[in-house]
Amino acid sequence: MIRKILIANRGEIALRIVRACRELGIQTLAVYSEADEQSLHVQLADEAICIGPASGAESYLRADRILSAAEIADVDAIHPGYGFLSENEEFAEQCASCNINFIGPKAETIGKMGDKAMARETVSKAGVPIIPGSDGPIENEKDAIKIAQKIGFPVIIKAVAGGGGRGMRIAHNAVSFAKEFQSARLEATKAFGNGALYVEKYLENPRHIEFQVLADKHGNVIHLGERDCSVQRRHQKVIEEAPSPFLDKNLRARMGKAAIKATNAADYINAGTIEFLVDSKGNFYFIEMNTRIQVEHAVTEEVTGIDLIKEQINIASGNRLSISQKEVTYDKHAIECRICAENPSNGFAPSPGTIGLYYAPGGHGVRVDSHVYGGYTVSPYYDSMIAKLVTYGRTRKIALDRMYRALSEYIIRGIDTNIEFLKAIVLDPGFRQGEATTSYVEEFLARAPKDVFKKSQ
Ligand code: ADP
Repeated sequence: MIRKILIANRGEIALRIVRACRELGIQTLAVYSEADEQSLHVQLADEAICIGPASGAESYLRADRILSAAEIADVDAIHPGYGFLSENEEFAEQCASCNINFIGPKAETIGKMGDKAMARETVSKAGVPIIPGSDGPIENEKDAIKIAQKIGFPVIIKAVAGGGGRGMRIAHNAVSFAKEFQSARLEATKAFGNGALYVEKYLENPRHIEFQVLADKHGNVIHLGERDCSVQRRHQKVIEEAPSPFLDKNLRARMGKAAIKATNAADYINAGTIEFLVDSKGNFYFIEMNTRIQVEHAVTEEVTGIDLIKEQINIASGNRLSISQKEVTYDKHAIECRICAENPSNGFAPSPGTIGLYYAPGGHGVRVDSHVYGGYTVSPYYDSMIAKLVTYGRTRKIALDRMYRALSEYIIRGIDTNIEFLKAIVLDPGFRQGEATTSYVEEFLARAPKDVFKKSQ
């Protein structure tokens, strides 16, 4: 029985977890850095403990301080959210040894699936298709070139410990390969403390389509359909939607089956995401599993009506899934735009600062998940995402029209945001026709007039 949860995160996801707990009658403990004292999750949680200075390394990544807070406040469970310690095997292990329920999979599962080369091997053995590539990590450049030549260029060099679109390099021939391999190694060592790399065939213009899965401790595994996350900038998602405009019933069923196979192969428990790339012919390939809640989980919630955070808590409590596969229905279309404090006219440079006037859109079919408000200061220390705007309706067209309406209503003064950029995409015929692949944003930016994203305030 979970009575009290420590939320080991910040921003909108921390607030999202507070809200789910409130509805379940579960007490919440927020932990926060000195920069987040005024944050909504701190104000709305039942209790709050400061765990250090602004820098993530000194606060949200400090397992020791978070576990001390857990002891002091006598919590039963920790929800890690996404990012920070959410995919840290050691942290999950420490929670277990302190007798605290980590709301996520077992530590060893995080380790196994967090190593992308091992994850490929694990699901491939279970018969899930993977992109042709190296068997496991590659030690040196010479072997890597041989493998790349065997696979055929272009190839993508990826960090075994990679995440957040970092540590990936594309090589179009053997000459550029050596340079890219070196810089991928440097970046991976710096970002993840692990320079191990593997190589995969680089697919031209695929779609990124992922499946949400849920698994309980009693062996029940279901999927909640897909999210299309093809609209990406620098391999990072910008707009996500469900269902995917590309999938038909048959392909959805086949990919859903593969997602469940992958989940079983990982011996997985709790909410997770199986990510695939899909080519223009409908061939799909596993790329990785995210062993945590995703930023874009809200679109699945709006399409299926299932509260994923509550399901996570329910699973961690040892209960059975509250729905069966047959009971999962998709009767809406939902779209999410990531609202970021950044300036698209200036290379998407981060734009921290204090928000002046703030007005969030509302009305029928609109959901805003955000920790900010008028007078809130966006810190330069963290990710630039300040809100998730989700719209939904009976059809994709309704959800899209609603998104344009909601984006037009959004007022955030005092800092730069990507709202005009998002509006331009939502109006773009290519996106509206459901044609976006992972190279869409790059192509869109190349043809967009330079000052198109300027705010007209
Ligand atoms: P991360 O864990 O850093 O998010 P992923 O493996 O999930 O990395 O890949 C992120 C994105 O990078 C994908 O959505 C896709 O756009 C691109 N990508 C990854 N692997 C390939 C590949 N083999 N071919 C083409 N694009 C790829």
